[in-house]
Amino acid sequence: MKKILVVSCENIRDKHCIACLKCFKALARREGEFARYRDEEVQVVGWTTCGGCPGMVLPRITLVQELARLYENDFDVIHLGTCLVKAAKVCNCPLDLESIKNKLETVFKKEVVIGTHNY
Ligand code: SF4
Ligand code: SF4
Repeated sequence: MKKILVVSCENIRDKHCIACLKCFKALARREGEFARYRDEEVQVVGWTTCGGCPGMVLPRITLVQELARLYENDFDVIHLGTCLVKAAKVCNCPLDLESIKNKLETVFKKEVVIGTHNY
């Protein structure tokens, strides 16, 4: 069982990517970056955002981590949504995803995956 946390772009989520339907579909079908869980159960522990530009992802995840532990439902893997990848291309997103991935892995000792659905 993999417990995952998804981080999405505040500018895109539910504004241009409505109701996170794409990621829920991909997760249900184990497509895109969720294909890695093809033979595994997955529980979505939480679904948060970068908090808005300029994207204070580390403090955000620190808070999520504290609360997840408080509720005794911690996560194993952080997915940086496809919206974050697209934001770099269409919204002048200031985030450097590779750098954030490395920092998150170092600070939280958790697996970090860049991307979610591939539609
Ligand atoms: S890419 Fe996924 S997490 Fe991001 S807004 Fe779209 S459905 Fe939601
Ligand atoms: S453009 Fe980047 S920093 Fe701004 S809301 Fe989206 S992901 Fe966050």
